[in-house]
Amino acid sequence: MKTATVVGSGPNGLAAAITLARAGLEVTVLEAAGTVGGGTRSSEAIVPGLLHDHCSAIHPMAVGSPFLRRVDLERYGLRWAHADLDCAHPLDDGSAGVLYRSITDTAAGLGADERLWRGLFEGPVAGYDAIGADIMRPLLRLPRHPIRLARFGIPATVPATWLARAFRTEAGRALFGGVAAHAFHPLHRPLTSSIGLGILTAGHRYGWAVAVGGSQRIADAMAAVLGDHGGKIETGVRVRSAADLPPADVTMWDLAPTAVADILGDRLPGRAARAYRRFRYGPGAFKVDFAVEGGVPWTAQAARRAGTVHLGGTFAEVAAGERDIHAGRMPQRPFVLVGQQYLADPGRSVGDIHPVWTYAHVPNGYTGDATEAIIAQLERFAPGFRDRVIGMSVCSTTDFATGNPNYVGGNIMTGAKDIPQLVFGPRKTLQPYDIGVPGHYLCSAATPPGPGAHGMCGANAAERALRLLR
Ligand SMILES: Cc1cc2nc3c(=O)[nH]c(=O)nc-3n(C[C@H](O)[C@H](O)[C@H](O)COP(=O)(O)OP(=O)(O)OC[C@H]3O[C@@H](n4cnc5c(N)ncnc54)[C@H](O)[C@@H]3O)c2cc1C
Repeated sequence: MKTATVVGSGPNGLAAAITLARAGLEVTVLEAAGTVGGGTRSSEAIVPGLLHDHCSAIHPMAVGSPFLRRVDLERYGLRWAHADLDCAHPLDDGSAGVLYRSITDTAAGLGADERLWRGLFEGPVAGYDAIGADIMRPLLRLPRHPIRLARFGIPATVPATWLARAFRTEAGRALFGGVAAHAFHPLHRPLTSSIGLGILTAGHRYGWAVAVGGSQRIADAMAAVLGDHGGKIETGVRVRSAADLPPADVTMWDLAPTAVADILGDRLPGRAARAYRRFRYGPGAFKVDFAVEGGVPWTAQAARRAGTVHLGGTFAEVAAGERDIHAGRMPQRPFVLVGQQYLADPGRSVGDIHPVWTYAHVPNGYTGDATEAIIAQLERFAPGFRDRVIGMSVCSTTDFATGNPNYVGGNIMTGAKDIPQLVFGPRKTLQPYDIGVPGHYLCSAATPPGPGAHGMCGANAAERALRLLR
């Protein structure tokens, strides 16, 4: 029987492990932390019983992931739930751009931008299940659905600032800009529309879902699938050098490229080693989880029903903040993402105390404390918020990097999403999963299609490994 070792049990490591185990390999996953899941972990904090997602919270890409749909995690206990509204982007005048799962409802709320919103999303959403397979793999492949992909792809290639000019309302422009900012990349750069349009298209197709019982349930369900196929997971095992690896026919690395270069040292061929050592990391995240009595007193009513709220004001303000953090400057008013997963999954709350998940975009390796800046953004759109906070838990860029070495300098995207890294992955090759050591593959979110708890990097890398093994 062929054997495989997977280093790291994030969603991509688990997806790789499942793919290999289903193909008949004997698979062992080695995980440094005490629990499985990487970026899909959750635990109780601040108040006993109050459930917080450590990292990933909202999952349009996971629900639509061709891999996760194939393995049918619902059979292993995973349940998705949706808040009334997917996302709200409040503005200073008390209004908000509102994202509904329905394109029609979203467009109708955007007044003069109704036709633009419909034009951007109706075609791609109708064809999403077909083009999803093209989007969720390396970009440099012959597309299976070229015409549909081109319809999606043309607006996706332009900078978000260009596409923003097509909007006539601030609510529409800001709503699009807040989602485009998920790229952690200056919005005037080419291709920055792509991540925003991708998330919005997936969201209109599948909704901005949360996992009932916390994102940990995604990892738990994946671990159960793996167990069903005979795979094993060892937690508390940090791989520090090649000598820590058991002999195996296939080794999958769910790690950042720089970590793989450090661990494999001289075993990595020169070209790959140079590319991995030069791999660029984007800005960081500074996260604060709050325990909030009575929930957040948003001025914009829509934000009280939205699973996600984007705090950054106008498109221009969001774009300026993203430019600043990319240049290493901490903005006075950073872009802040707020997760109110409890609206979809009330079991995460304790009575009237609710877990509110927030993080700010900050420069890579930011050593300051962004807690006050996050609270100030919340107070700006929800006066009285501070008085409702009964406890909080802070995760700085350093805490992120210490808790999971993939988040270098607090960069939760496992790499900067600039054009070369977005198009090729960690090095310029048509085979982004190959690391140049026979039998070894990179499968983390540093590889295509990139970050998110969708498992597609892991599944694609494992399929590549299986092709070569045969
Ligand atoms: C604050 C935050 C918010 C996010 N929000 C969302 C969201 O809402 N929706 C979404 O889809 N995605 C979100 N993400 C991104 C998503 O979590 C990641 O893209 C995803 O987890 C990447 O998966 P991965 O398998 O590549 O790596 P990871 O999840 O990073 O897993 C890597 C694993 O490898 C382990 N490891 C590292 N080094 C070693 C070693 N030497 N030996 C053994 N094990 C090792 C780590 O402990 C970790 O468990 C968010 C991330 C963060 C941090």
